[in-house]
Amino acid sequence: MTITKESYKNINYCLHCGNKMQIITYRENKLRCRCTNCGWTFYKNPIPAAACVIFNEKNELLVIKRKFEPNAGEWALPSGYIEIYQTPEEAAVSEMKEETGLDGEVIQFLDYYSGYSPIYEKVISFGFLMRILGGTLKAGDDAAEAKFVSFEKLPPLAFDSHNHYINLYKNIIKLLTNTGIYDVISHTESTQPSALIDVKNPQIIKAKPLKDGDAKPRIYSLMAMTAGLPNSNLNRALGRK
Ligand SMILES: [Zn+2]
Repeated sequence: MTITKESYKNINYCLHCGNKMQIITYRENKLRCRCTNCGWTFYKNPIPAAACVIFNEKNELLVIKRKFEPNAGEWALPSGYIEIYQTPEEAAVSEMKEETGLDGEVIQFLDYYSGYSPIYEKVISFGFLMRILGGTLKAGDDAAEAKFVSFEKLPPLAFDSHNHYINLYKNIIKLLTNTGIYDVISHTESTQPSALIDVKNPQIIKAKPLKDGDAKPRIYSLMAMTAGLPNSNLNRALGRK
């Protein structure tokens, strides 16, 4: 795959000096869009974004109805483009606050997803599992609605990246509950996990010993499920390369 003229079709004038831009073969033999006057080069890169997977105490997922393009009027995870001064984690926290009114923090990075964007051609989304710390649920400025829904009632989500994070999450839950050993009770508990599990086999890596009368070990968060596992194991478990 290589960059083509199509990627520069709306780039006409230099952002530095205002002169005409020109598509030329530049370093590494790649097509670049450069200013004919000052030499400023426009690089066509994917735009980074952050998305939030947020559960309440009933294990319902937080979704928002988008107010603005792209995909206005459709449902999605709270998400947005990463500002120049933000890390992906900081962007996730601020998008959560802006779109849902809830204060939160990152529990765990889930995965990234490189997908098509009707506006920017390519967006790289970073998906995070978030924990609610406080605040009141209220649709923010760029959301028309914000609500918790069960997996069964989940409306179609606008972005492939968001569906990817949800499917990833569902697959991990399925793998773990299929072992018959673990109940998934809450993804929002901050309690220390009761067990670490190798989802590849799956097998228990480390678990608190049970005493007589103890309830079955319970999974408190995705962190509990994946903590300490090399990503390659997790990827294999989920059938990915
Ligand atoms: Zn210029």
